[in-house]
Amino acid sequence: MVTTVTRFAPSPTGYLHLGHAFAALYAADLAFESGGRFLVRIEDTDRTRARPEYEAAIFEDLGWLGLTWEAPVRRQSEHFGDYAKALDALKALGCAYPCFCTRKEIEAEFAASVNAPHGPDGPIYPGTCRALSKAEREQRLAHGDKHAWRLDVAKAVVMVGARLSFEELGNGANGERGTIAVNTDLFGDFVLARKDAPSSYHLAVVVDDALQGVTLVTRGNDLFAAVHVHRLLQELLKLPVPAYSHHRLILDASGKRLAKRDQATTLKHLRADGWTSARVREALGLTSR
Ligand code: GLU
Repeated sequence: MVTTVTRFAPSPTGYLHLGHAFAALYAADLAFESGGRFLVRIEDTDRTRARPEYEAAIFEDLGWLGLTWEAPVRRQSEHFGDYAKALDALKALGCAYPCFCTRKEIEAEFAASVNAPHGPDGPIYPGTCRALSKAEREQRLAHGDKHAWRLDVAKAVVMVGARLSFEELGNGANGERGTIAVNTDLFGDFVLARKDAPSSYHLAVVVDDALQGVTLVTRGNDLFAAVHVHRLLQELLKLPVPAYSHHRLILDASGKRLAKRDQATTLKHLRADGWTSARVREALGLTSR
């Protein structure tokens, strides 16, 4: 029997709130119920927003929730070489291209086209730099022009050949469950590495889940759509395919999703207010362990 390996992967860009507690407990419960393993990963590729005090608070909060996790914890900022290697593999396949567009230029293109198609992250990149000639690309790279790297999705799909799918054991954003057919067009030519960060969320998460042996990816259903492109990356990079279990998001009294800036629901604040971990579980509708 395959051991279930789950992970909780917070970004240390603020204090954890009840929504994070739910995500962490959901992942840990699924692992421990089946005698599996629970991992924690620190997603700190955004060096401008990640702060050591938030990371320290994550461990304090998780311990207070009664969780245990394996050491060492994987910290993405210590593994940029792994993402660079994956990016190099995609470049070698010929399905990654440098994108020199500035945010302003992309926004101007969106503004100029009334019917710009939208994806889960907003308007879809029109593919401007995909059309650059090889000579122009090389000249701009040699000149040191700042650039991101994007996946040429159409090329990647041809390369992969087969129709892809994934197994959703929880609930997708619209209650999707079971075997889901992949829609590779959802995000357009998404970013693999940013101008200011050597890896995008999509690339790092796929590489890390594979390197850490995660068999069941759990997370909020706001990230459900991302699986469609994660499957494409897994296939291109020949990585093992985990199962997925997305969960509901925790909302505030007005029905809005909790945000890191809402101080009132941070675990730090609740703890200072006398809450116990049992009360957190109860408030989140989770059975006690
Ligand atoms: N780092 C992401 C977040 O804090 C979670 C990513 C994932 O679980 O795949 O929302």
